[in-house]
Amino acid sequence: MKSFVQAFVLLALASSFASAFDPSPLQDFCVAIDEPKNAVKMPGDTNNPVGSNVSAVNVDKIPGLNTLGISAARIDFAPYGQNPPHIHPRATEILVVLEGTLLVGFVTSNPNNTLISKVLNKGDVFVFPIGLVHFQFNIGKTNALAFAGLSSQNPGVITIADAVFGSNPPINPDFLAKAFMLDVKVVKDLQAKF
Ligand code: MN
Repeated sequence: MKSFVQAFVLLALASSFASAFDPSPLQDFCVAIDEPKNAVKMPGDTNNPVGSNVSAVNVDKIPGLNTLGISAARIDFAPYGQNPPHIHPRATEILVVLEGTLLVGFVTSNPNNTLISKVLNKGDVFVFPIGLVHFQFNIGKTNALAFAGLSSQNPGVITIADAVFGSNPPINPDFLAKAFMLDVKVVKDLQAKF
Protein backbone atom coordinates (compact mmCIF):
# COMPACT_ATOMS: atom_id res chain seq x y z
CA MET A 1 0.00 0.00 0.00
CA LYS A 2 2.80 2.39 0.94
CA SER A 3 4.61 1.82 -2.35
CA PHE A 4 1.34 2.28 -4.22
CA VAL A 5 0.89 5.69 -2.53
CA GLN A 6 4.48 6.61 -3.38
CA ALA A 7 3.92 5.61 -6.97
CA PHE A 8 0.74 7.66 -7.08
CA VAL A 9 2.56 10.71 -5.66
CA LEU A 10 5.32 10.29 -8.23
CA LEU A 11 2.75 10.03 -10.99
CA ALA A 12 1.01 13.17 -9.76
CA LEU A 13 4.35 15.00 -9.70
CA ALA A 14 5.20 13.79 -13.19
CA SER A 15 1.88 14.94 -14.60
CA SER A 16 2.22 18.35 -12.95
CA PHE A 17 5.65 18.76 -14.60
CA ALA A 18 4.15 17.78 -17.94
CA SER A 19 1.29 20.26 -17.74
CA ALA A 20 3.59 22.99 -16.42
CA PHE A 21 5.72 22.79 -19.58
CA ASP A 22 3.17 24.03 -22.05
CA PRO A 23 -0.01 25.45 -20.58
CA SER A 24 -2.64 26.35 -23.12
CA PRO A 25 -2.45 30.13 -23.50
CA LEU A 26 -5.82 30.51 -25.24
CA GLN A 27 -7.67 33.63 -24.12
CA ASP A 28 -9.99 34.65 -26.95
CA PHE A 29 -9.87 35.57 -30.62
CA CYS A 30 -10.33 38.74 -32.61
CA VAL A 31 -10.91 39.72 -36.22
CA ALA A 32 -7.48 40.88 -37.23
CA ILE A 33 -7.62 42.56 -40.63
CA ASP A 34 -9.60 45.77 -41.05
CA GLU A 35 -8.86 45.97 -44.78
CA PRO A 36 -9.45 42.64 -46.58
CA LYS A 37 -7.03 43.67 -49.33
CA ASN A 38 -4.23 43.63 -46.74
CA ALA A 39 -4.78 39.90 -46.32
CA VAL A 40 -3.52 39.13 -49.84
CA LYS A 41 0.05 37.84 -49.84
CA MET A 42 2.02 38.66 -52.98
CA PRO A 43 5.18 36.83 -54.12
CA GLY A 44 8.20 38.04 -52.16
CA ASP A 45 11.13 39.78 -53.89
CA THR A 46 13.91 37.20 -54.30
CA ASN A 47 16.37 39.66 -55.86
CA ASN A 48 18.88 39.52 -52.97
CA PRO A 49 22.15 37.68 -52.18
CA VAL A 50 20.45 34.46 -50.98
CA GLY A 51 17.80 34.43 -53.73
CA SER A 52 14.82 33.89 -51.46
CA ASN A 53 12.18 35.81 -49.57
CA VAL A 54 10.37 34.79 -46.39
CA SER A 55 7.04 36.51 -45.75
CA ALA A 56 6.27 35.77 -42.11
CA VAL A 57 2.59 35.68 -41.21
CA ASN A 58 2.99 35.88 -37.44
CA VAL A 59 1.36 37.79 -34.59
CA ASP A 60 3.09 41.01 -35.75
CA LYS A 61 1.13 40.81 -39.02
CA ILE A 62 -2.10 39.25 -37.73
CA PRO A 63 -2.78 40.29 -34.13
CA GLY A 64 -5.57 37.70 -33.97
CA LEU A 65 -2.90 34.96 -33.85
CA ASN A 66 -2.01 36.06 -30.32
CA THR A 67 -2.34 33.17 -27.82
CA LEU A 68 -3.27 30.71 -30.60
CA GLY A 69 0.18 29.08 -30.84
CA ILE A 70 0.29 29.02 -34.63
CA SER A 71 1.63 31.10 -37.53
CA ALA A 72 2.68 30.71 -41.15
CA ALA A 73 5.28 31.79 -43.67
CA ARG A 74 5.40 32.04 -47.45
CA ILE A 75 8.86 31.33 -48.88
CA ASP A 76 9.68 32.29 -52.49
CA PHE A 77 12.88 30.99 -54.10
CA ALA A 78 14.65 32.14 -57.26
CA PRO A 79 16.46 29.34 -59.17
CA TYR A 80 19.26 28.15 -56.83
CA GLY A 81 17.99 30.49 -54.13
CA GLN A 82 18.23 29.39 -50.53
CA ASN A 83 16.77 29.97 -47.09
CA PRO A 84 20.06 29.88 -45.17
CA PRO A 85 20.65 27.80 -42.01
CA HIS A 86 18.46 29.13 -39.19
CA ILE A 87 16.61 28.22 -35.99
CA HIS A 88 13.13 28.90 -34.66
CA PRO A 89 13.58 28.96 -30.88
CA ARG A 90 9.86 28.65 -30.16
CA ALA A 91 8.35 26.56 -32.99
CA THR A 92 8.37 23.37 -34.94
CA GLU A 93 7.87 24.05 -38.66
CA ILE A 94 5.97 22.00 -41.22
CA LEU A 95 6.80 22.87 -44.83
CA VAL A 96 4.67 22.19 -47.91
CA VAL A 97 6.18 22.61 -51.39
CA LEU A 98 3.76 24.19 -53.87
CA GLU A 99 6.12 24.68 -56.82
CA GLY A 100 9.64 23.57 -57.71
CA THR A 101 12.23 21.26 -56.18
CA LEU A 102 13.82 21.94 -52.79
CA LEU A 103 16.72 20.26 -51.00
CA VAL A 104 15.81 20.63 -47.32
CA GLY A 105 17.31 19.42 -44.10
CA PHE A 106 17.94 19.82 -40.40
CA VAL A 107 20.80 18.77 -38.11
CA THR A 108 20.22 16.92 -34.83
CA SER A 109 21.77 18.17 -31.60
CA ASN A 110 25.13 17.16 -30.06
CA PRO A 111 26.87 14.79 -30.00
CA ASN A 112 25.72 13.21 -33.27
CA ASN A 113 24.88 16.27 -35.40
CA THR A 114 23.15 13.98 -37.88
CA LEU A 115 21.91 15.65 -41.06
CA ILE A 116 18.33 14.63 -41.91
CA SER A 117 17.84 15.74 -45.50
CA LYS A 118 15.51 15.16 -48.44
CA VAL A 119 14.77 16.45 -51.93
CA LEU A 120 11.16 17.67 -52.02
CA ASN A 121 8.93 18.10 -55.05
CA LYS A 122 5.55 19.74 -55.49
CA GLY A 123 3.12 18.43 -52.88
CA ASP A 124 5.79 17.04 -50.55
CA VAL A 125 5.85 17.85 -46.84
CA PHE A 126 8.74 18.01 -44.33
CA VAL A 127 8.98 18.82 -40.61
CA PHE A 128 11.78 20.79 -38.92
CA PRO A 129 11.70 20.11 -35.15
CA ILE A 130 11.75 23.04 -32.73
CA GLY A 131 15.16 24.58 -32.02
CA LEU A 132 17.17 22.67 -34.66
CA VAL A 133 19.30 24.24 -37.39
CA HIS A 134 17.52 23.81 -40.75
CA PHE A 135 17.57 25.10 -44.33
CA GLN A 136 15.96 24.98 -47.79
CA PHE A 137 17.77 25.16 -51.14
CA ASN A 138 16.07 25.48 -54.54
CA ILE A 139 18.04 22.98 -56.64
CA GLY A 140 15.72 23.32 -59.65
CA LYS A 141 16.10 25.59 -62.66
CA THR A 142 12.74 27.25 -61.98
CA ASN A 143 11.33 29.36 -59.17
CA ALA A 144 10.11 27.45 -56.14
CA LEU A 145 7.35 28.23 -53.67
CA ALA A 146 6.69 26.78 -50.23
CA PHE A 147 4.38 27.52 -47.33
CA ALA A 148 5.25 26.74 -43.74
CA GLY A 149 3.11 26.34 -40.65
CA LEU A 150 4.83 27.08 -37.32
CA SER A 151 3.69 26.02 -33.87
CA SER A 152 3.92 29.47 -32.27
CA GLN A 153 2.33 32.85 -32.94
CA ASN A 154 5.85 34.26 -32.50
CA PRO A 155 8.32 31.53 -33.64
CA GLY A 156 11.42 33.77 -33.72
CA VAL A 157 14.24 33.37 -36.25
CA ILE A 158 17.97 33.09 -35.59
CA THR A 159 19.93 33.05 -38.85
CA ILE A 160 23.20 31.33 -37.95
CA ALA A 161 25.57 33.36 -40.12
CA ASP A 162 23.96 36.67 -39.15
CA ALA A 163 24.06 35.84 -35.45
CA VAL A 164 27.65 34.59 -35.44
CA PHE A 165 29.36 36.84 -38.00
CA GLY A 166 26.92 39.76 -38.12
CA SER A 167 26.33 40.50 -34.46
CA ASN A 168 26.28 44.11 -33.31
CA PRO A 169 28.78 44.83 -31.88
CA PRO A 170 30.94 42.13 -33.52
CA ILE A 171 32.16 39.11 -31.54
CA ASN A 172 35.95 39.15 -30.94
CA PRO A 173 37.45 37.82 -34.24
CA ASP A 174 40.27 35.96 -32.47
CA PHE A 175 37.66 34.09 -30.46
CA LEU A 176 35.64 33.21 -33.58
CA ALA A 177 38.79 32.15 -35.46
CA LYS A 178 39.53 29.57 -32.76
CA ALA A 179 35.89 28.49 -32.41
CA PHE A 180 35.49 27.87 -36.16
CA MET A 181 39.11 26.79 -36.82
CA LEU A 182 39.54 29.63 -39.32
CA ASP A 183 42.25 32.16 -40.07
CA VAL A 184 41.41 35.43 -38.32
CA LYS A 185 41.51 37.16 -41.72
CA VAL A 186 38.71 34.89 -42.95
CA VAL A 187 36.68 35.74 -39.85
CA LYS A 188 37.16 39.48 -40.41
CA ASP A 189 36.16 39.04 -44.06
CA LEU A 190 32.99 37.20 -42.99
CA GLN A 191 32.22 39.85 -40.38
CA ALA A 192 32.53 42.55 -43.05
CA LYS A 193 30.08 40.67 -45.29
CA PHE A 194 27.44 40.06 -42.63
MN1 MN B 1 12.44 27.77 -40.82
